[in-house]
Amino acid sequence: MAETNEQAVARRRTFAIIAHPDAGKTTLTEKLLLFGGAIQLAGEVKAKKNRVQSRSDWMKIERERGISVVTSVMTFEYKDCVFNLLDTPGHEDFADDTYRTLSAVDSAVMVIDAAKGIEPRTLKLFEVCRLRDIPIVTFINKMDRESRDPFEILDEVEEKLALDTAPVNWPIGRSKTFCGTYELASNTVRGSDDEVARTPVNGPQADAAAGKLPENEREAFIEEVDLAREACRPFDRQAFREGHMTPVYFGSALKNFGVRDLIDALVDYGPAPRAQDADIRRVEATEDGMTAFVFKIQANMDPNHRDRIAFARVCSGTLSRGMKAKLVRTGKSITLSAPQFFFASQRQLADEARAGDVVGIPNHGTLRIGDTLTEGEDLLFHGVPNFAPEILRRVRLMDAMKGKKLTEALQQMAEEGVVQLFNPEDGSPAIIGVVGALQIDVLKERLKQEYQLPVDFEPARFSVCRWMEADKAELQRFMDAHRADIARDLDGDPVFMAQNGFSLNYEAERWKAVTFKAIKDYQ
Ligand code: GDP
Repeated sequence: MAETNEQAVARRRTFAIIAHPDAGKTTLTEKLLLFGGAIQLAGEVKAKKNRVQSRSDWMKIERERGISVVTSVMTFEYKDCVFNLLDTPGHEDFADDTYRTLSAVDSAVMVIDAAKGIEPRTLKLFEVCRLRDIPIVTFINKMDRESRDPFEILDEVEEKLALDTAPVNWPIGRSKTFCGTYELASNTVRGSDDEVARTPVNGPQADAAAGKLPENEREAFIEEVDLAREACRPFDRQAFREGHMTPVYFGSALKNFGVRDLIDALVDYGPAPRAQDADIRRVEATEDGMTAFVFKIQANMDPNHRDRIAFARVCSGTLSRGMKAKLVRTGKSITLSAPQFFFASQRQLADEARAGDVVGIPNHGTLRIGDTLTEGEDLLFHGVPNFAPEILRRVRLMDAMKGKKLTEALQQMAEEGVVQLFNPEDGSPAIIGVVGALQIDVLKERLKQEYQLPVDFEPARFSVCRWMEADKAELQRFMDAHRADIARDLDGDPVFMAQNGFSLNYEAERWKAVTFKAIKDYQ
């Protein structure tokens, strides 16, 4: 019998891992995939990552092998749940995509290095999750190494993220003596992740808990467990679902501790696909009609073919191969003849995808970031925001005769989300903006390969840009007063360009009726 929408939705878990580089995201990903049977041997994801050594390598490798397409979405099954793990590019490949991906998930696993605590990138990604109150499960990694005191880490999460914490498990031992986890509420222990079931014990003093530690560490462990129970908040599912509380798990992705705790948690209470807000109404995940939105576009590896893969998250209903869907932006109908599913190591043709799933839709530039697909209904999801770029550059064309072609090409690239594009009101050359430096290299390479346009980039006189919100007259007054510092984004919305944070603050002080925004929703 076909699975009902309710059943399909209930067993879907669509999530991302957010972490500062080197906290252990790749290692954890690999372990999760192993549990799901999606890869045979640990080391496969890692091997892919290690091939990416420099930026230019990245371009070549991506083209040759389509690595980022393959690792963009990893689908695996575990305990009857279908997990869609969406990759958030992190090292040199950090980009606007990293943020956008977070608009397509229902929860996130935040990986923190136990010795380092909250690092800058973690904080940033967390803030993006908070915009939509995405529930966060915290994994304190590398407990097998010298680490900070667990209470101290919990305090830091509470303070820096303004997020309540509830430790669910507690580390048995520290660094060299770390040998498993103690679940506070259930009084159960698990040694390594090879132990499928947790063992019930009658308290932290049990042989299977404190008894595993050297004698001189036992008492401290028992006290800690008591203290954690008394002083920490108990896990509150509702507060977690609303994004106010994070359950915390301690472990070591490398040494196989605590990862099973984590994935079991996602099975037990990881949120199923959520309802999505559209312009005219809220769309429930269990509705029959298919709806989806595009959150990422990947250029094809072959530069001679301008085909792209658009990554769409299904929000409701069933997306099936061969179906016709309405692209609401243009009103046109498109046939989804070859949607692709992503089973960890190879791409497969999917027959159908349900709410929460992500599919790759090959197209020739028809689909843009933020696009909504439906079975006919005129609704637009406003799920994919723009984030103010952190790097701004002016585009310098080597061959002045090709100005018009460049304008078109930049427009295309911006629609695809490779970079953001800003056209200054004073008619000076376009400014591009990115959150990760690699995006500039990608743009340069693609303009050369696909459009035969050699370009260079020079520092713009601006380093910060913000969208503005104010009543019409006030906005006009501000723009008139700052003519040389106003540009238009892809949608024609005005953007204020500031030399630096200081001058932005200065203007914000002077123009109290204008709100300067670092985030803009697409529609
Ligand atoms: P990413 O940059 O967040 O993807 O981090 P990786 O997964 O590549 O890990 C960065 C480094 O930390 C690698 O050398 C890993 O082997 C190491 N590492 C990851 N998890 C652990 C852990 O639990 N314990 C220890 N000791 N090292 C770890």
